[in-house]
Amino acid sequence: MGTNRLDPSPTASRDAELLLMRTLDKDRAWLLTHPRDVIAPEQLAAYEEKIARRAQHEPIQYIIGEQEFFGLALQVSPTVLIPRPETEHLIEAALARLPHDRAIRIADIGTGSGAIAIALAHSLPQATIVALDISPAALAVAQGNAVRHNVAARIDFRESDLLAAAQDERFDAIVSNPPYVATTEELEPQVRDYEPSTALYAGESGLDIYRRLIPQAKALLKPGGWLMMEIGQGQRDAIADLLQGWSGVEFIADLQGIPRVAIAQNA
Ligand code: GLN
Repeated sequence: MGTNRLDPSPTASRDAELLLMRTLDKDRAWLLTHPRDVIAPEQLAAYEEKIARRAQHEPIQYIIGEQEFFGLALQVSPTVLIPRPETEHLIEAALARLPHDRAIRIADIGTGSGAIAIALAHSLPQATIVALDISPAALAVAQGNAVRHNVAARIDFRESDLLAAAQDERFDAIVSNPPYVATTEELEPQVRDYEPSTALYAGESGLDIYRRLIPQAKALLKPGGWLMMEIGQGQRDAIADLLQGWSGVEFIADLQGIPRVAIAQNA
């Protein structure tokens, strides 16, 4: 029923099905085995309201209020960027390099929904994390997600412009998926019109945040500490320039072959 109204989106039928599942609070198996059930008028109205929002390109994650990241269901609202699958490469890179048997300290800059901080805390049971964001509304979402996944005791959420609120500490790793979109770049309507612009844009080149973040990170990393950041398409060479003076600079490609994670060591 809702699919026609979402066409020509390639995800139209999947989105319509998911919105119906959420409206009825039923799973896919139930839908398939009850094709002729008539739904109550209030449920129909609620479903139509969700379909109308999706037809205006609102991301499905904001409509249902949820996105899975690294196997963890996270609450999302329009105050936070929707976690992307590409960012899971950053988690994998961190888990491959950081010790699992020591009480290490990590800073996550621009935590947003808390996706990176929570995934790392979940997989590194001895780690403690300082999760920073300039947006108090984002921090409230992240805090709720940390509670939901039982890692809130090991994550210290702080309102901060980059590392400003962590100046007296030293870290084993600093991780970030910062804003990196150039203001001149044309984003899809569902990103441009709905996701928080402070989480997306970083000046004309998209590099403004890295230019501040990289030197700040160098000052607060322990010797041998790791900086791991998500980067945008086409930014590899510029980031390599900004990482001059670091050791073991490395880039990891995403599934499309685009360099997506920058790694460097303070040694
Ligand atoms: N990957 C996001 C996008 O292009 C951007 C996220 C970011 O700026 N960190 O839609």
